[in-house]
Amino acid sequence: MKIFVVNAGSSSLKYQLIDMDNEQVLCKGLCERIGVEGSCISHKADNGGVYETETPMPTHSEAFEAVVYAMTKSDAKVIDSFDEVSAIGHRIVQGGSIFKGSCIITPEALNDIDELGALAPLHNPAHVLAIKACIKTFGTEKPQVAVFDTSFHQTMPAKAYMFPLPYKYYTDYKVRKYGAHGTSHNFVSNRCAELMGKAREDLKIITCHLGNGCSITAVDGGKCVDTSMGFTPLDGFMMGTRTGTLDPSAITYIAEKENLTPAQLNHIFNKESGILGVSGVSNDNRDVVAAAKEGNERAALALQMQRYQIIKFIGSYVAAMNGVDAVVFTGGIGENDANLRKDVCANLTYLGAFLDAERNTQRGEVKISTDDSRVALYVIPTNEELAIARDTLALVK
Ligand code: AMP
Repeated sequence: MKIFVVNAGSSSLKYQLIDMDNEQVLCKGLCERIGVEGSCISHKADNGGVYETETPMPTHSEAFEAVVYAMTKSDAKVIDSFDEVSAIGHRIVQGGSIFKGSCIITPEALNDIDELGALAPLHNPAHVLAIKACIKTFGTEKPQVAVFDTSFHQTMPAKAYMFPLPYKYYTDYKVRKYGAHGTSHNFVSNRCAELMGKAREDLKIITCHLGNGCSITAVDGGKCVDTSMGFTPLDGFMMGTRTGTLDPSAITYIAEKENLTPAQLNHIFNKESGILGVSGVSNDNRDVVAAAKEGNERAALALQMQRYQIIKFIGSYVAAMNGVDAVVFTGGIGENDANLRKDVCANLTYLGAFLDAERNTQRGEVKISTDDSRVALYVIPTNEELAIARDTLALVK
C-alpha cells in the first residue's frame, strides 16, 4: 500500500511517497513559490531519477498536478498512475484542544482545522488550501488523513499547559500551551523504548528535537507531560531565529521604546532573534559554529546560551517527572552536532548519565551513553513523514 505524505506551507509543498509494505521512500520532492512568479518543482526518485522544472503554480491545485506528473510521467516517475496511491496523509501544525489524535479528514474536521487557523495563522490556512486542492485534484474517494503536530501533547495536565494569565484569556481565546513537533517527539520516544527493549509505559524519556526549530518534551509512561514550545512554536528556548521564553516586560519595554506594532514584534521574535540575533552571523548552526571557531565572541556566546538553556530544560523535566531513564537527541543539530551533545551531557552527570566519547562520534541511530550509565543517552534520527504515513495507514485500514 502506497501513502502520499504532504507537508504544505502557504507557498510551498513538501511531499513523499512511501511504500508501506517495506516503509521505503519511493520519491520525495518540493514545490516552491506557489502563487508567485517562478514556481518550480524539484522531485527525486529513490532510483536516482531527478525531475526539476519551472512551471506555473497559481494555486496548490497546479502544484499537485505537477507532483502527479513528476510521479507518474516524468523521467523520474515511480508509479504508473495515482490510482496506486491508497491515501494521503497531511501534516497539520495546529490541532488545538479539538484533535487528540490523527483523524480522517471529513468536512467537519476540515472546518475545525480551518477555524484553528486563528491559533496558527502561518500554517493551518495553508493546510486547508492543500487539502481542498487534493480534493479537487484527486477526488473525494481518495481518503485524506490529518496528523497534528500538537496531538501528542494533548496528554499534558492543566498545570503544565495553563499560563498564569487572567483565566478569561483561556476561556475566551483558548490561550494555553499546545506544543509542537509532537509527531517527532512521539516517533523518537517510541523508538527509544524499542531500542531499550522496554515498554514505553515503563519509561521516563526526555526527547530533545534540536533543529532550526527546537523543543524538548517530557514523556512519562509514553505520554507527554510537558513540552517547551507553548501557545506557538516561539516558546521554549532559543532557536535559529526564535527567542524562546522571554520576560514579558522586555517585550512591552522594547515595543514602547521603538514604537512597534504586534506584527513587527512578532517578526523580530520569530525571524530576527535566537542564534541569529545574538551571533549576528546566521541562523544556521554550522555557520555559527564555524564563526565561533574563528574567534567570533558573539557566535560563541549564542552557542553557550543555547546549550545552557537546553541543560536547564532537561533538568526541569527530570524534576517534573521525578527521574529520567533516557535522553534522546534528534533534529538537524541533535543528530549531527556531536560537540553540542558533549557539552549538554557534561551537565547531566549529576543524574548518572555518562556520555561515551567514541559512540558520540558515530552517525545515525546510536546509543551514545556508556554501558554503566544509569540514564541511557541516544541519538535517534527523526522521521516525521514515516510517522504520518503510519498513522494514515492505520486509519485507512
Ligand atoms: P532541521 O531544522 O532539523 O533541518 O535542522 C537544521 C539545523 O541543523 C541547522 O541549524 C543546521 O546547521 C544543523 N545541522 C545540519 N547538519 C549539521 C551538521 N552536520 N553539524 C552541525 N549542525 C548541523
